Amino acid sequence: MSQNIDKLNNALNQIGDLMDDGFLLVDKHGNIQFANSSAEEFLGKELSRRNVTEVIKSKDLNISRFLKTDKEIDKEFSFQMDDDLKRSLSIKIKKLSNELVVILLLDMTLQRNLEKVRRDFVSNVSHELRSPLTILVGFIETLLSDKAIDIKSRHKFLKIMDEEAKRMNRLIDDILSLSKVETEEHITPSTSISILDPIKSVISSLDESGLSKNNKISLVDKTLNEDRPLYIIGNYDEITQVFTNLFENAIKYGFEKSDIFVNITKPNGKEVVVEVINEGEGIPTKYLERLTERFFRVDKARSRKIGGTGLGLAIVKHILIRHRASLTIDSELNKKTSFKIKFPLIKH
Ligand code: ADP
Repeated sequence: MSQNIDKLNNALNQIGDLMDDGFLLVDKHGNIQFANSSAEEFLGKELSRRNVTEVIKSKDLNISRFLKTDKEIDKEFSFQMDDDLKRSLSIKIKKLSNELVVILLLDMTLQRNLEKVRRDFVSNVSHELRSPLTILVGFIETLLSDKAIDIKSRHKFLKIMDEEAKRMNRLIDDILSLSKVETEEHITPSTSISILDPIKSVISSLDESGLSKNNKISLVDKTLNEDRPLYIIGNYDEITQVFTNLFENAIKYGFEKSDIFVNITKPNGKEVVVEVINEGEGIPTKYLERLTERFFRVDKARSRKIGGTGLGLAIVKHILIRHRASLTIDSELNKKTSFKIKFPLIKH
């Protein structure tokens, strides 16, 4: 008998691990008898010692009511999780017998994100593209209607038109990157990388292209005596994009010829901290928490003038969510501004 139960448990474990959806078996009191690894990913570890009403908490979904009923149940609900990822689950509950209820958890986050991104995309894009387009149309009309424009003015207009067209191009590139990372932010990357590689590569490509405001970027690695290399679960191109955006901002909003520091520390065995520090006008405290909102700029006109799209930090935020990394921003006016990222380390 106990051999059969062992076999059954073994089979359940194997089948459960094959499923991307969460799968729970609970008794009529709500005690979780079996949970597959996807269910643990959604609801937390060691579920088999817990009651389902503790782990699926919702005012709209009273699970214990279903467990107590004698009637057949076969229901489906939406459930919004209260975690950082704001995952949306679809929950299916089916009574197998008087003793056993099966609960399936389907991750609907991707579909929900796709819908939201599509909705926001249309309204933001039309608004942001309108201003360069209006400028372009204005100059085209002037050039077409006024044949007497001298060569110098014509050249000046064409230069402005060229800048506006390039700005539209950058906007479109950034909007596409953002919508991609936003929809995928709940999926952790499948590769591991050494955190130092993308950082070094961004610094050397910025050095090569010539730093526009004669800054100096210094990498201060305080982990030289630690276990190496410092591996994180990461997508190389996305992490490169994070540091490109942070360094470009440090240059754009930093003082001319000032130093930019990249400090790497490992405060404990679990995480590596990368801090990008620049000296500049800084950011008023009241704006700090809004910086990663799409299209938020402290000074819109200035950001535009220096070629900003207002999307750089939103892209950084979503890439970091996907990497389960955290971002802290600090700034002292006319002194230092720091972007500190904590990445979870993996052991090799
Ligand atoms: P932008 O394209 O405008 O640079 P970002 O999303 O990269 O857009 O940044 C949003 C805003 O955050 C910027 O417009 C700027 O006001 C502020 N900001 C970002 N980085 C810095 C920094 N290092 N120092 C001061 N302000 C910054």
